[in-house]
Amino acid sequence: MILQTPMTSSPKIPDHRPTHVEIDLGAIKDNYHRIKKTMSGQKILWVLKANAYGHGLIKIAQLLETLGSDFFGVAYAEEGITLRKNGIRSPILVMGGISGFQLPQFIEYGLTITASSIEKLNQIEECAKSMGKEAIVHLNIDTGMERIGIHHYNAKSLIKAALDVDHCQIEGIYTHMANADLSDDEFTHIQQERFEEVLQYALKEGLNIPLIHAANSAASLRNDSLRYDMVRCGLLLYGIYPNQELKNLIDLKPVLSWKTRVVFFKVIEAHKPVSYGGSWQSAKMTRIVTLPVGYGDGYMRAMSNKAKVIIRNNKYPNVGSICMDQLMIDIGWGTAYNDDEVILIGESGDESIIVEDLAYWAGTIPYEILTNINTRVPRVYK
Ligand SMILES: *Cc1c(COP(=O)(O)O)cnc(C)c1O
Repeated sequence: MILQTPMTSSPKIPDHRPTHVEIDLGAIKDNYHRIKKTMSGQKILWVLKANAYGHGLIKIAQLLETLGSDFFGVAYAEEGITLRKNGIRSPILVMGGISGFQLPQFIEYGLTITASSIEKLNQIEECAKSMGKEAIVHLNIDTGMERIGIHHYNAKSLIKAALDVDHCQIEGIYTHMANADLSDDEFTHIQQERFEEVLQYALKEGLNIPLIHAANSAASLRNDSLRYDMVRCGLLLYGIYPNQELKNLIDLKPVLSWKTRVVFFKVIEAHKPVSYGGSWQSAKMTRIVTLPVGYGDGYMRAMSNKAKVIIRNNKYPNVGSICMDQLMIDIGWGTAYNDDEVILIGESGDESIIVEDLAYWAGTIPYEILTNINTRVPRVYK
């Protein structure tokens, strides 16, 4: 008989790519409770569009549902249908514009529909009637975003139409703030006044709408009077601030970290350009490590020669253009070995890199950094 070495004595081989994202579900839980405590008893619609801002649609929805969440929000019907097919029972508002041919699916899967014009409302009414069902509808008022929604100055006609439908339950009415994350809140006030006027008219006409909502993350923190019956919270749940000034209003935990490992180490001579286009070279001999991650994973090329990573508790810069699947780091006379863990987003020792840092390097907003981390990067839940 051959004596076998027990498997447990060999180092654990991870069953995913060295480049992966870790999602701290405990941090989601903490943020959920902190946000709930900060609001003044309003319902919260948790925004899960774009794969829950890259965190994983199903996993995050399932966790929030066990915590007793009130409402979910997605952008597209497909996202809502995926949630339903995975057993999610909570109300789901599809906040994007609707295509008429998808209406039967909205109704079949019990998704809450956004009606942004009289024509759309009538289409929903017709569809629900033909299916012998009732559609649940939120009216969308455009108070200045100029995206979807009936213009506030035409909204009276939509309110009138809403009084006439028999197969739609008008459960909500909402608007969306264009500038809630800016320090200057003048435009938000203008939008609020426009919205209030529509609400007054609905009240006067006897259209009783139980769920009035207007605030995204930034607006819900900055302006209590915008909370109405429900707030729509996305970014804050994931522990990220739409604006750094909001940091003193609520303390949140970052949820997502992004890690990889060193795959190559080399010493390069002075004046040897690195990567495509030769956008960087060192004045003296230096040590370069290569990482198996690139813009093909969503590590944006715009961050070339700006981004930093953490290896062995030290921050080092990316040098040369970021490639599709690889990028180079100048560690100078620092130490790094093949297979060393590298932190792209997250903390180690006294060093940390947050999503907002990547947004700054890429010249974009944290939302885009998160939603760019694509499906080639496995998500690992802790
Ligand atoms: C995306 C979105 C939100 C959430 O915005 P955050 O800034 O992430 O809170 C709220 N409302 C609508 C209509 C949205 O499209």
